[in-house]
Amino acid sequence: MDDLQTLVNEIHQEIAARTERGKVADYIPPLAEVDPAHFGIAVTTVDGQEFVAGDADTPFSIQSVSKVFTLTLALGMVGDRLWNRVGREPSGTPFNSIVQLEREEGKPRNPFINAGAIAVADVLLAGHQPKETIGEIVQFVRFLAGDDSIVIDQRVARSETETGFRNVALAQFMRAFGKLDHPAEHVLGVYFHHCALAMTCRQLSRAGLFLAAGGYNPATGRSVVSRGRARRINALMLTCGHYDGSGDFAYRVGLPGKSGVGGGILVVAPGKASIAVWSPGLNENGNSLLGSQALEMLAQRTGWSIFGA
Ligand code: GLU
Repeated sequence: MDDLQTLVNEIHQEIAARTERGKVADYIPPLAEVDPAHFGIAVTTVDGQEFVAGDADTPFSIQSVSKVFTLTLALGMVGDRLWNRVGREPSGTPFNSIVQLEREEGKPRNPFINAGAIAVADVLLAGHQPKETIGEIVQFVRFLAGDDSIVIDQRVARSETETGFRNVALAQFMRAFGKLDHPAEHVLGVYFHHCALAMTCRQLSRAGLFLAAGGYNPATGRSVVSRGRARRINALMLTCGHYDGSGDFAYRVGLPGKSGVGGGILVVAPGKASIAVWSPGLNENGNSLLGSQALEMLAQRTGWSIFGA
């Protein structure tokens, strides 16, 4: 598998030479301050090998990539009843859209738009204080990655809490429609904190490995979810993981993936590998510009598309 190391090195070099790097998220200072020159890639194969290049060991704010982990936890808690609370259709709207939520009476389209992740956070709060739920999410991500050093960036969490007016609006709106069981402040506390998880590409690719290996994490030897559930989470990532850019990502990369405004993307090549990339500059849909390009190169050169080699 030396080839794979050669390939990630090549991708790193080609990406480093690009001058158009996209625009770093600037809605909170800790994200606005991140140097757009960063680029990291980590590939963890289902047989446990790792291939990394660039800033693969630099922690970054995983933001919406965390929604894959909260979705997995919520499905574990309530199973298919989750779909009474949130849909599973692509939204075709920006990640923080309010218009669609009004038309659909407070039931979010899918678990990966902000409103949907807020509904998932509400499910995770059942019987818990926000602090306990946040602690469980962190423990779960550590368990998935086999790494107890993973933490929440408290500065990011604070900034999100201070300026997340649109998310406050979404949560209050859902509450007005009777779609939240807990006070909006509690639900948002959970949401803002899981978005503020800081992880490296290497940790993220390890944490996603169970989705590439039928629900079982070969690196830690632990079973996480059933094969069918892993397949369904992958389906949601493919159709909804890149907001309004999900169609384009499927067209270009052809693999399930979830992006975050921190510039990270977690991608699953079923039966092959879990991949994490990070480049902070975003494209017009709020997805990592160079991260998407790197994944396009990887998918093309490995033939890992789910639509055929
Ligand atoms: N914390 C961000 C927000 O709620 C997450 C968005 C994202 O990563 O796409 O606006």
